[in-house]
This record gives sequence, structure tokens and C-alpha cells, in this order.
Amino acid sequence: MKPTPTFPPDRTPLLAFGAHPDDIEFGCGGVVAGETQGGRAAHFVICSRGEAATHGTPAQRTAEAKRAAKLLGATVEFVDLGGDAHIEASIARTLKLAAIIRRVRPGFVLAPSVVENQHPDHIALGRMVRDAARLARYGGVKELKRLPLHAIGQLLFYAVTSEAEPAPLAKVLIDVSAPEVLAAWTAAMAAHASQTQARRYIELQLTRARLHGLRCGVGHAIALFPNDPLHFDSLEQLGGAARRF
Ligand SMILES: [Zn+2]
Repeated sequence: MKPTPTFPPDRTPLLAFGAHPDDIEFGCGGVVAGETQGGRAAHFVICSRGEAATHGTPAQRTAEAKRAAKLLGATVEFVDLGGDAHIEASIARTLKLAAIIRRVRPGFVLAPSVVENQHPDHIALGRMVRDAARLARYGGVKELKRLPLHAIGQLLFYAVTSEAEPAPLAKVLIDVSAPEVLAAWTAAMAAHASQTQARRYIELQLTRARLHGLRCGVGHAIALFPNDPLHFDSLEQLGGAARRF
């Protein structure tokens, strides 16, 4: 059993799942930086060590992920769901993720989108996290009975690339343009040196964020995709729409 991270009781933690060691940083690292700098705890669950990658060894990738999580103010753990390029949805694995949700008790959960035509590990993990969040709140699941049930606040999908953005779901654009947030995000992406030396991932993610930022009139923004309808007390809380162009 991994050591249980402890979080301040007044603020529910953010729990982010990544199929590969760099997915969370590339897909939504700026959002994490903004939340942790605002006082929210964040915990990463990474479901492989990048062992099928062309660049970087599993040991390197693990070290990079640990360093990146630290730069984003997050704690991190690794779970085995079959290995890089071999993540396949199963009930046993879904329950493993549900147990983590019950242990960490997050308000917000971030997971890779389930859009087709991207790395199959992302899709399999996104589906399992979605189903795990459901099972975590069901009282009668016998494999989970040792842990108190937990209903998360929201599941939000992140897209590692533009192609993984789920078109049918409404986008929520999160402003990540505060200099300290942008700096922490960029540093966390740069921590994955084995990947960023091979391809221009940082430029890709910052350009995507700039495009989203322009749409809503801020410097940079990251798109997240809520799995469920959003609920507000009044129209006021909806804020502004991104319709600058
Ligand atoms: Zn990935």
C-alpha cells in the first residue's frame, strides 16, 4: 500500500490521472499549477512508466514525472494497469482506480479524453477513470468496502493534443496566464526532457493555450471538458463566454 497523501480538510484535492509520465503536464499542467498555487492539494496517478516510448528509459521517465509533479506542487504515485501501450479497460483495473478515488477523496478529477484516434492508452484510461468515479460512490461494491464511499465533485477530461479534444462536449476554458502559473507549467513540461528534446511539445501546448486564451481575451487558457452537465446557482456564476472572434 502506498503512503496516503494528506490534504487540508477545508479544500478538496485535485486528482489527475495520466496514462504516461508526461500526459498530465502536457494536457493540463497549467490548470494544476493554478490550483496548487491557489492552495489546493493535487495528486497525480501515473499508469505506466513510458516503457514503450521511442525516447527515454522507464527510469528516466519516472524521474522526470516526479520532478514535474514537484514543480506543479503535486504528489505522485505510479500504478500498473498492464504497462505502456498495453492499458486495457477491465473491471479489476477500474476498481483499482476507484479505490484510489476513495482514498484521495477528490473534489475534481482530471483524466485523458476518450476521443478515438489518439494513443489507445489514453482512451482506455479515460474510460476507466470515468467508470471508477461512478463505482467509487456506490455503497455495495464489495471490493471497495474497506474504504468509505466517495462522490467526486466533477470529472473533467483533458486533451493531450488538439485532435483529442472531444468536439461534442462544451469546453471550459481555464485561464493559466498568471506569470507564475505559466512558468511552473513550462518548467514541468521541460522536466520531461527525454520527450521535449525529440519533439516540440512545449511549443505545441503553449500555442494551443495561446489560441484558447485569445478566444476568451486572456494570455493563455487550457480547455477542459466536463463529463457531466455543469450546475450553477445563478446566471451570474456562469461568467463570460469565449466569443472574441
Ligand atoms: Zn500519453
